[in-house]
Amino acid sequence: MEIFNCPSCHQLLRDPVTVPCGHSFCRRCLQGPGAERCLDCKQRLKVRGAKDLKCNTLLCNLLEKCLPTEHNVNRIKRELQELLSNQEYEDAAKLASKGIVMAPEDVPLRILCSQAFLALKQYPEALKEAEVICNLQKQNPEGFYRKGMALIHMDKKREALAQFHQCLVLNPQFSDARREIEQLLEDVSCHVPSAVEDLLAEVSAYLKSSSYDTDILKAPLEASYINHTSASLKLEGASDEEKNSQCLMTTNDLTSLSQIHRNLMDTEGLSPTENDRLCQHFKLKDTEEVDPVQSALSLQDLLSVSDVECSLCIRMFLDPVTTPCGHTFCRECLERCLDHRPYCPLCKQSLREYLKAGCYSITTLLQDLMLSIFPSEMAERKQLHLSEIAELSSLVRNVPIFVCTVAFPGIPCPLHIFEPRYRLMMRRCLETGTKSFGMCLYETGKSFADYGCMLEILNLEYLPDGRSLVETVGRRRFQVKQRGLLDGYHTAEVEYLVDKRLEGEELQEVEHLNNMVYQLLQDCFTQHSHVFVNHGHPPLKENNIQDSPDGPSWCWWLLSVLPLDPSYQMFIFSMTSLKDRLLHLKHILSVFQNRP
Ligand SMILES: [Zn+2]
Ligand SMILES: [Zn+2]
Ligand SMILES: [Zn+2]
Ligand SMILES: [Zn+2]
Repeated sequence: MEIFNCPSCHQLLRDPVTVPCGHSFCRRCLQGPGAERCLDCKQRLKVRGAKDLKCNTLLCNLLEKCLPTEHNVNRIKRELQELLSNQEYEDAAKLASKGIVMAPEDVPLRILCSQAFLALKQYPEALKEAEVICNLQKQNPEGFYRKGMALIHMDKKREALAQFHQCLVLNPQFSDARREIEQLLEDVSCHVPSAVEDLLAEVSAYLKSSSYDTDILKAPLEASYINHTSASLKLEGASDEEKNSQCLMTTNDLTSLSQIHRNLMDTEGLSPTENDRLCQHFKLKDTEEVDPVQSALSLQDLLSVSDVECSLCIRMFLDPVTTPCGHTFCRECLERCLDHRPYCPLCKQSLREYLKAGCYSITTLLQDLMLSIFPSEMAERKQLHLSEIAELSSLVRNVPIFVCTVAFPGIPCPLHIFEPRYRLMMRRCLETGTKSFGMCLYETGKSFADYGCMLEILNLEYLPDGRSLVETVGRRRFQVKQRGLLDGYHTAEVEYLVDKRLEGEELQEVEHLNNMVYQLLQDCFTQHSHVFVNHGHPPLKENNIQDSPDGPSWCWWLLSVLPLDPSYQMFIFSMTSLKDRLLHLKHILSVFQNRP
C-alpha cells in the first residue's frame, strides 16, 4: 500500500492532486510555501498552485477501493481533530458516531468521540465511550482518564478519583490525571503528597475511609472487569454505591475552583499536554492500526483492470494523463478530444491553459500502480498499440491522405493545420516516425484525385490553441489504387510512379530536349520576371536526368508556378514519360514567350 503514499509527507495520500509534471500529492502538502515547484521533481508548476487543481478522482476512487475502512476512518479522525480544535462539537459528535460504525474497535476514534460528548456536556455518553476504551485496551490509561473526566462532571467524585488513580497506576507520568487527583484531594481537604506512590496510597486510604469499593483499585485489573458486559454491570453497581456514599460527601464539599478549571478546559478545547498526548497516540495508531483483513489482501485482489480503464477508449490506460479538473485519460484519447474542443470530455471544464502548456505528463503513480498490479495486461496493451502503430506506418497500404492541393516532388508545401482529423493525422505521422502523408487535390465524385504526392514533414510548430503550422516538402508521386477512411481522414493504397527508364539514343535525345527546355525557361524567366516574382529562382539543372524516379525537379518547380488549369496540371503530373512531360512544358513555355 506504500504506493499510495504522498512523496511529500510519506503518509497515505489525502485528497490526492496530480500536478502538471505528473506527480501526485496531498492537496494540503501542495499548499505550503515553495509549492510553486513540484515537491518531487522540482519542476515549475505551470498551473498556478494547488488551488487551481482539483483532486484526482481516479486516485480517490482507487484509494477508497483499496483502503476503504482505513482510509475513511483516518480521514474522519483528522477531520474530527480539526472540528474539536474549532470547537464544533455537535458536528464532531455526529462524525465520530459515523466513524465508530465503520471501525467500532478504533480506540483513538473512541477517545475523540468521548471528548466531543464531554464538551457537549453529554456526560453519560462520554462515559460510555470511555468504558469501551477500557474494554478494548485494558492497559490504556487514557480510557480511565476519560472515565474520570466524565464522572467528575456527573458529580461522581469518588468514582472519578478511582479512575484517575487507575490511570496513574498504569502510567505514573500521566500529569493530567495526577492534577485531577491533587485537585480532588484538596477539595476534600486531604493531604496531597508530592511523590506519586504516596499520592496513590493517599487516594486508596481516602476511598477506603469513604467506604468506596476499593477492589477496583487492584492493579492490574482482573479480566472479568474488562469485558464489556461486566463493565456496564459494574457501572450500574457503582451508581448504587454512589447513593450509599452520598451522605458521606456532598457536592458542596468540592470547592468551585476545580469546577472553574474544568469549565475553562471545556471551552478552550484541549490543554497543551492533552493535545501532545493525543497526537502521540494518533501517530502511533495511524501506522500501527491496519485492518488485518485489508492488509492481508494484496492490491491485485482489490483492483481489477476495469478500475484502470480510460472512459474514452474503454481500454486499460495507455500513458495516462490527468487534467487540471482531476480527470484521467490515455494521452492519445485526450489529445483527440482536444483536437475538437478545448474542454474536458467528462466535466466540460475549459482546458485551454492545459492545452496551451502542451505537456501531457504521465500520471506516474497510476503508471507505477498498473505496472505493479497488471504487468502482463499492460504489456499486452502496449503491444496492441505498437501493432496499431505498425499498421499506420505502412506507406503503401494505409497512406494518410490530406485532401487540399496539388503538391510536387522537391517543392515546399507549407500547411496550416486546424481541422481535428488533420491534427490527429499529423500527430500519428510523427508518432509512427514516417513523418509522411499523401497530398491530393479534391475531385468531385471520388473524394480525392487519382494522383498525388507524398509530403515529408520538416518542421511542425504547435500554436497555443492546438492548431499547427507545418513545413513540408514534396517527395514521391503516387497513383491511388484504393480509397479508405480512418478516424475521419482519408487513406489510400498507393503505387509510386516511376518515370520510364531511358537508354542509348533515346536518353541522349531526351537529355538534349531537357537542356533546350531548361534554356527556354531561363529566357522566359528573364523576360517575364514579374510572373515568377513570388517563386524565387528555378532549381539548378541536375546532371543526371534519371537521378530521381520523378525526373528533374526543375520541371516540377515550373509546373507549380505556372497558372495552369488543375486538370491539365494533373495530366502532366501523372505522366511517366519524361520526354512527354518536357514536350508539354516546351509547348507551354513557347506560348508564354510569345505573349506580348
Ligand atoms: Zn502529503
Ligand atoms: Zn513533479
Ligand atoms: Zn483511452
Ligand atoms: Zn474534467
